[in-house]
Order: sequence, then structure tokens, then C-alpha cells
Amino acid sequence: MTVVIDPSFDPAPSLAHQTQVVLGSAADLDAAAARACFISAEGDLPSCECVSGLTRDELAAAGFTGKSGQTLRNPGDTLVVFVGAGKEPFTAATLRDAVANFTRAANESATLAIDLGGVIAAGLDAREAALAATEGAILARYRFEPLKSEAKNVLIETLTIAVAEGDREAAQQGIDRGLVLARIAGLARDLGNAPGRHLNAVNLADLAVKLGGQTGLEVEVFDRAAIMELGLGGLLGVNAGSAEEPRMVKLRYTPEGATDATPHLALVGKGIMFDSGGISLKPTHAMGSMKMDMMGAGAVLASMTALSELGTTSIVTGWMMCTDNMLSGNATKVGDVLTIRGGKTVEVKNTDAEGRLVLADGIVLATEEAHRPDAIVDIATLTGNAMMALGLGTAATLANNDQIAAQLATAAEVTDERVWRLPLDDRYREQLKSNIADLSNIGGTYAGAITAALFLNEFVDDVPWGHIDIAATMEVERDDVWRSNGSTGFGARLLAEFATAFEKPSQD
Ligand SMILES: [Zn+2]
Repeated sequence: MTVVIDPSFDPAPSLAHQTQVVLGSAADLDAAAARACFISAEGDLPSCECVSGLTRDELAAAGFTGKSGQTLRNPGDTLVVFVGAGKEPFTAATLRDAVANFTRAANESATLAIDLGGVIAAGLDAREAALAATEGAILARYRFEPLKSEAKNVLIETLTIAVAEGDREAAQQGIDRGLVLARIAGLARDLGNAPGRHLNAVNLADLAVKLGGQTGLEVEVFDRAAIMELGLGGLLGVNAGSAEEPRMVKLRYTPEGATDATPHLALVGKGIMFDSGGISLKPTHAMGSMKMDMMGAGAVLASMTALSELGTTSIVTGWMMCTDNMLSGNATKVGDVLTIRGGKTVEVKNTDAEGRLVLADGIVLATEEAHRPDAIVDIATLTGNAMMALGLGTAATLANNDQIAAQLATAAEVTDERVWRLPLDDRYREQLKSNIADLSNIGGTYAGAITAALFLNEFVDDVPWGHIDIAATMEVERDDVWRSNGSTGFGARLLAEFATAFEKPSQD
């Protein structure tokens, strides 16, 4: 293997760089190589020095009207980037986008500066503004380059954020949180971008041990023998065609002072390190990004490395279900029947509907815990149908509990990792019938995102449960504001926010 893999390959290269984000006053901004100047699409130009002497007509002649998405570079001792702010006052989401646009327009500059004074004066909370600016800058400058012989991306060394004196404390809180959230999104992107040969189930488990140890998590790794002992027939069935071992990783975050009454959240992640489809082989065009089929497990790991720093007060248990899905003489055959942990049998009518098989084992394990979870949330690059329904910008959520669905929606709003809830419509359950087993692993032509969730619902044992289908949102093919070309890391920030704000659903 060392013939093709450099043994020094680091699957989490973005953790090696730490951007300094510092609070400054307006006077500090010109020390940076590049600074942003937000200009709205209406009204007077801002009164700052960087636009003095310019008129709207002159800017318009250069193609800049202040529309959101626009940028215009004005070179000088400090590069000034005029950044379109649109017509409405900034929200956290639109500010994150605008800062990302600034960062990309100044992509040769290692020191950046942003004055948030006007943004905060116009009504955006100082903490939220600083958080969004920190995330927007760092995430927009992300590139995965460890496999290039020459790294071209200029990382941000220092980002200076100016706020009014009275807003410094709140802004610092936002910066601290933004740094953590940007770090975990970068980590999740790294894991998605790493090729299947460079990051297999064994490597990911090793990384979980290392990162978990650094961030206060208990980590237990289950190898093939341990997985057989547990009877995880879904995970073993998917792994059957692979030359590489599967791994299940159990992560546990326990806040200080936790008792049996402390809320307990379980997160289950699909970790298909590469998905060929198995015997139900994918067509070539559908296989290109299948190294990212592990991003559910990646999001679980990345988010959990933030819980201690974010001050999460719930107990959180993570289950990463990791293997690749390959074909060989040993591979699971179409029509084979697997026995999931707990005894339910599944006829595998399509070996490419494998994510739900590994998730089912993980969900059953979560329900069996002595301190039974108050909720289970699984996350998976699960169905092309979710993509057909909602497009590439929005993940599908399904849930057996309105409060969990609502908490997921709130976390999605805060992070701008957008979700939309689909109905868990029991009338489609009959599509999952099998003549010879308890269940089939695939439904009919339509509603595939819903029948996948209905399949998982068979294993949740009435625990409040939510499901996030991130097949559509795992990747962007070109830079899209703060999402950089490649793996988006979708789910890491969302789950970290969700877990930190988690409240036990009340009994209806
Ligand atoms: Zn598949």
C-alpha cells in the first residue's frame, strides 16, 4: 500500500493551520493586506476613508452597484474590496456570504480586516456578526491540497475584526465560537475530500481515537471480530465484498456533573468510505464522488470534537458505522438476507441501498444503551431522491417527533446548513415488504428519501428520532460563497449546534 500512499499523509490537514482572529479598532484595519468595505445597493456610500472621493456612478461604471454577490477590488497599500451588501440589512447568513465573497476576492492576501461597526449598528447582534464573519472568512479560504505537489492556497494568518468598544465582549464570544465551528467544518471537509484509498474505515477509526483523545471524548473502536460478536449483520453484509476491515467507532461526550437525569442524545453516522454500489454497481457518472459517502460519520466525529469547547450540557454518544461497499466474490448478493442487530431480517434487493443497513445496526445499538437516549439523530448521504426533491442546497430531514424536527430546523437556520422536512408517511411502508424476510432494503421508484427513512424507523423502537439525508449537500462542484469546491462538510456545524442546544422532547 505504501507504493501508492505516502505514509506521512494527514487526513485532517486543515487542523494544522490556525487562523488568528483578533479584535481591533477601525484604526487597525489598514494594517491588513486587504480590507472589506460593505456597500449597500441603495442610499449613500459609507463615510469611511476607503470610498472617499468615489461616487456611485464611478463604481457603477466599474460594474459595481452594491448588489449582493458583487465585489470590486481597489488596489492600494491596503487592497480595498468593495463588497455588495444588497438592499436589506445583513442577517448572520448574508453577512457570512458577504465575508466569504470578500475573502475570495482577496485570495492572495494572508491578512484580512473587516469593520463590523456599521453592520452591528444596523441591528445585527455583535456576537452573531463576529461568529458569521469568522466562519465566512475561514471557510471560504478552505482548500484540500495535501495531495498536490505544490500548495497554492494562501491561508489566512490574521483576520482583524473591528467593533465598537461596547461590543467587544460579545464579539469575542462570537469569534471564539466561530473558530471552533469553522475548524470542525474544515475537518469534515478534509474527511470528505480524502480519497477512499487514503482514508479507509481503519484510518478513520484511528483518527477518531486521536482527535477524541484531544477533545475529551471517550472512544471505543470495534474491529471486525468485535463487530461479529455484536452481530452487526448490516455492517458485516455491506463489508463482505471489501478487502478492508470495517470499523464501528463509539464516541462519548459526558459533560461535567452528568447524572442519570442528564439529557442523552445519540448521533449515528453513515460511514461508507467508498461506495461502488456493490453487485448493484453504480454507473460511472454516479460513482465520482462516492469517497464522500462517509460524510455522515465524518459529521458525527467532527461535531463531537467541538462539544467540550461549546459547553454542551447533554451527554452525546456517537456511532460511526464505517466500511466501504465493494464487489468481489464475497460480496453480498442481490437477494441475500441479512440479520440486523436485534434480529430483524432484511432482504437486500439492491446492494447500493447499503447506508440504511449499517445505520440500522447503529440505531439498534443506540436504543439498547442502559441510559436510553432521549433522542437519536442519524445523518447519512443516503438517497438520490432527496436530491431530486430539494436540489443541491438543502438536506432532507424526516422525524418521528415534531420537537426533534423543530430543533434540527433551528440548528439549520443558525448555521445556514439548510434542511427541509419531508413527511414520514406510513402509507409508503408497504413498499418495504419482502416475501422472505421482515423487510426489503429498498422501496419503489418514487419517494425514495421517505422509504429510506421508513426503513430506519423500523429500528428506532419509539425513541424520538430524526434523520438527516445529506446526499444532495455533501459537495459543491464550484465555489459557492463560503462553501469551497469539493466536500462541504455539511452537518458538522449543524450537529454541533443541535447537540449544544438539545432539549429532551417533552412527552406528548
Ligand atoms: Zn450506495
